[in-house]
Amino acid sequence: MEVGLRGESREEGVESMASQGPRPQTLDPRPETLAIGVMGGTFDPIHIGHLIIAEEARYRFQLDRVIFVPAGIPPHKPDEPITDREHRYQMTVLATQDNPAFETSRIEVERPGPSYTVDTLMEFKRIYGEETRLFFITGADAILEILTWHQPERLRFMCKFIAATRPGYNLGEVKRKLPKAYLEHIFFLEVPGVHISSTELRSRAAAGMPIKYLVPAAVEDYIIQNHLYRAEK
Ligand code: NAP
Repeated sequence: MEVGLRGESREEGVESMASQGPRPQTLDPRPETLAIGVMGGTFDPIHIGHLIIAEEARYRFQLDRVIFVPAGIPPHKPDEPITDREHRYQMTVLATQDNPAFETSRIEVERPGPSYTVDTLMEFKRIYGEETRLFFITGADAILEILTWHQPERLRFMCKFIAATRPGYNLGEVKRKLPKAYLEHIFFLEVPGVHISSTELRSRAAAGMPIKYLVPAAVEDYIIQNHLYRAEK
């Protein structure tokens, strides 16, 4: 799979993280401060698209580490059937274990109530220090809804957002939907070649189709051993 990366937006108000050369950008005049990627998602299940995006974000934004945070109760999916949080956490641990720059946090898995991002970022600031630079990484479609998140006004000053887009993503829609004050805090990261989605993986597994190579081998084994995503469940 060819995985290249280019900054996507040339549009006014949308910060571009485009760097045409091979070198990552330096985004902060204080490179000595810790920079942490907070990879937020439901991860039902985690797949190689998530891992590629996290690694590309780590490189491009010179992150010291990327902490994967599986949501305990995704706030905007109250009625959707979601795989048990412990299974999603375990799969994330298995998927990230061979990258020394990756970690998986239980912070949202253990917190009761909806997994508000603002609470998670506050906790990371408490643990790693106020001066730590946080980059919340997630799908662009999720970030598009940021105005509906818990305490969005506060959120936008607590971190920068890295919005992962699939090839062909319509950035014009983002620009129309979000005020400039939010767009200034969002970087768009396109990783061509990664079309996989968790939804599609669940469907494939339910239909008995292969998911080999779309998820890490350890995750595939875990799904099989725990009979996850089976149609007859
Ligand atoms: P989602 O609606 O399930 O996902 C929207 C899109 O983004 C999907 O295409 C999804 O693909 C992709 N995506 C999700 N996580 C990703 C990641 N880390 N990297 C790249 N693409 C990703 O979104 P969600 O997982 O429920 O929510 C995303 C994050 O936003 C979570 O951490 C959630 O807690 C947070 N959030 C917070 C609030 C709040 O604070 N009120 C509200 C909404 C969301 P896949 O299905 O393949 O992952």
